[in-house]
Amino acid sequence: MGRSGSHGNTAMGAMRMTTMNGQLMPEDLERWVLDFAAQIVEQHVMLSDLDAASGDADHGANMERGMSALLQAVPGWDRQLLPGDFLKEIGMHLVSSVGGSSGALYGTIFLRMARTVGDACAIDPELLLQAFESAAEGIVDRGKVKRGDKTMYDALAPAVEVLREQLLPARQPLSASLRAAAEAAQTGRDTTADMVARKGKSSYARENSRGVVDPGAASVTMLIQAAARTLGNSVTNEAS
Ligand code: ADP
Ligand code: MG
Repeated sequence: MGRSGSHGNTAMGAMRMTTMNGQLMPEDLERWVLDFAAQIVEQHVMLSDLDAASGDADHGANMERGMSALLQAVPGWDRQLLPGDFLKEIGMHLVSSVGGSSGALYGTIFLRMARTVGDACAIDPELLLQAFESAAEGIVDRGKVKRGDKTMYDALAPAVEVLREQLLPARQPLSASLRAAAEAAQTGRDTTADMVARKGKSSYARENSRGVVDPGAASVTMLIQAAARTLGNSVTNEAS
């Protein structure tokens, strides 16, 4: 996968044209995932420090393990994967390499996105929104979580809500919509500092978790920020 070496390859040539016409391709998803992985590797000590305040101090280490593995593995993957297959591969990889609650939860995010994307050859902004919505629903199903429980959902849910508002009623371009979603994730993340954890290992600490941002909310914010940096620029729905 990746853009280099695709000259003379008809399938990749077609992919690039489609990208220009406003659709996300696996190579765009790859840039997103690798950007996210690099951020996690850089910030993993901070993420574990957040987890130390209320949980078991391993969120950064769990995520770093999985993301280092992804950074190694993804560039060698089959160049002809469909977008949904790429997302599924990422999800399965995370389930097996991250560990902890977050391995299952991040796996769910990507596997639910994969299921929603199905066998589409490309992802337009509306399908991307649906994929993010099903990822958020997946966290609710899997984590039995709601807003205010001080988890990653408190950052993911508002980000997805804002993405919907921006893309559909406001008809904003994907780039601006993703930037607004990233800001909503950051705000959601910051509100978790005022919450008391009710889910996961942090819930044992109860009041001790107050005053500190939830580590999963911090990492999922990086996922949305990475999407804003990488996916918005690939798609030109400005004209639609
Ligand atoms: P573990 O809790 O197994 O040590 P991590 O430390 O890697 O796993 O991940 C902790 C993060 O996972 C929390 O900060 C929270 O955001 C998220 N989390 C834990 N349990 C749940 C849950 N039931 N629903 C949603 N998110 C959860
Ligand atoms: Mg932990």
